[in-house]
Amino acid sequence: MHEVPPLSYSFDALEPHVDAQTMQIHHDKHHAAYVTNLNKALDGHPDLQSKSVEDLLRGFAGVPEAIRTAVKNHGGGHANHSLFWQVMGPHDGGSSNGPGGDLAAAIDRDLGSFQSFKEKLTNAAAGQFGSGWGWLVVDGGKLDVIARPNQDSPLMEGKTPLLGVDVWEHAYYLKYQNRRPDYLAAWWNTVNWQAVADRFSQAR
Ligand code: MN
Repeated sequence: MHEVPPLSYSFDALEPHVDAQTMQIHHDKHHAAYVTNLNKALDGHPDLQSKSVEDLLRGFAGVPEAIRTAVKNHGGGHANHSLFWQVMGPHDGGSSNGPGGDLAAAIDRDLGSFQSFKEKLTNAAAGQFGSGWGWLVVDGGKLDVIARPNQDSPLMEGKTPLLGVDVWEHAYYLKYQNRRPDYLAAWWNTVNWQAVADRFSQAR
């Protein structure tokens, strides 16, 4: 059975950028619903139940047709949100701070500069029509910035997500209403660059 991972910080830890009520509803209600529905879809599929959600999505082509849409939506929702909580944190980020080390070098090499990367991801996320995510991914050994609709996971395409920003309205509407660009500008302050760098190390 899949479970919602506990947050490693309090609901109000990302204030004022992401408000506590949004965090609580997002984690305890939205993410929980993806997990509940994923578990329902996998009922009767013990071979798939034993896989991590990441492996399930990497092997999406082999998922039976009857549960494929449910796995894409709810498995994607579970994996995407599990990553999202991990790559944010209190007292991290800072709008002008970025990662150091190997990740910083790879961003410069593949995306031009940290500033250029920030603009690319902000624009990708702001430009995603309707619900979806903006992503920093490793694709064939290189970093790339993409946007995907709904809960479509980059893992289904063989890409490894390092950082994701949720632009479903449930991620920002209570505080920012229709102002997605304001949410995105504030969200950068919550990024836990050490967590992103750790994911980059694991991806290589
Ligand atoms: Mn969400």
